[in-house]
Amino acid sequence: MNVYQEIRKIVNEADGVLIGASNGLSIAEGYNLFADDSWFQENMGDFRSRYGIRCIIQGMVFPYHSQEEKWLYYSRIIKEKCIQNEPSQIMKNMYELVKEKDYFVVTTNGEDHFIPAGFLSERVFEMEGKLTEMRCSNGCCDDVYSSKETVFRIAEAEKKGEGLNKFLPKCPKCGGNMEVNYGESSSFVDQRSWQEKAACYREFVNRFRGKRLVALEFGVGRRNQMIKKPFMQLVSVESLAKYITFNKGEIYIPQEIQNKSIGVDEDIAIALDKILKVR
Ligand SMILES: [Zn+2]
Repeated sequence: MNVYQEIRKIVNEADGVLIGASNGLSIAEGYNLFADDSWFQENMGDFRSRYGIRCIIQGMVFPYHSQEEKWLYYSRIIKEKCIQNEPSQIMKNMYELVKEKDYFVVTTNGEDHFIPAGFLSERVFEMEGKLTEMRCSNGCCDDVYSSKETVFRIAEAEKKGEGLNKFLPKCPKCGGNMEVNYGESSSFVDQRSWQEKAACYREFVNRFRGKRLVALEFGVGRRNQMIKKPFMQLVSVESLAKYITFNKGEIYIPQEIQNKSIGVDEDIAIALDKILKVR
């Protein structure tokens, strides 16, 4: 049995599937937060030359002078990289692999690609929020709103050369500026929706104690504390649990869980394709 057949068998026989995904999955889908790649140069070239911004993440934390500039930047990223006309083959394959199973997803990725691929929203925990949502920057309440309409209006206004001012989103409760609901921020964990999802995550993990749980990890770095560390701890204490990590060029499996782990040092797209083709 090759490694892909083995993975397919483990997933098929599992009682529950816990998926963890981070930056390496985004990169496999062509969304690289840290690269001055051709996409960034072609699509964000004006921000590149005006402010010296060299990658997506740098522009997300740049201290813009105005809300217009900030929303123009985010809108373009969201429209081009987060809102997909169709899910990528990677996301389709991942969903296909687990759709019949009892699954739960935890991710630090903000591009919101799981739910459009078919994953149920109540089973996806975006630990750092998502770019397709926004919140009040005054923190007057913990409500989050879809940012999609704003994104399309701003893109349309930019195309027509209109001012963006009247399209800038305002908080319906206090009238304050809105900001994208994404990124590391202490205010996050206070959000009701975040707390509810964190509780769902705990409930899922507890439900599969003593059962055949498989943790599938996609593109999570070696030092990741939010996803990798709890996954490895869980697998080490649960005798029937399995740990499968996909991360090209960066496989890390600690000694104590070696015997119940598989590392897939291959492009995620290729690996998923091979697993799906197992008969
Ligand atoms: Zn407000």
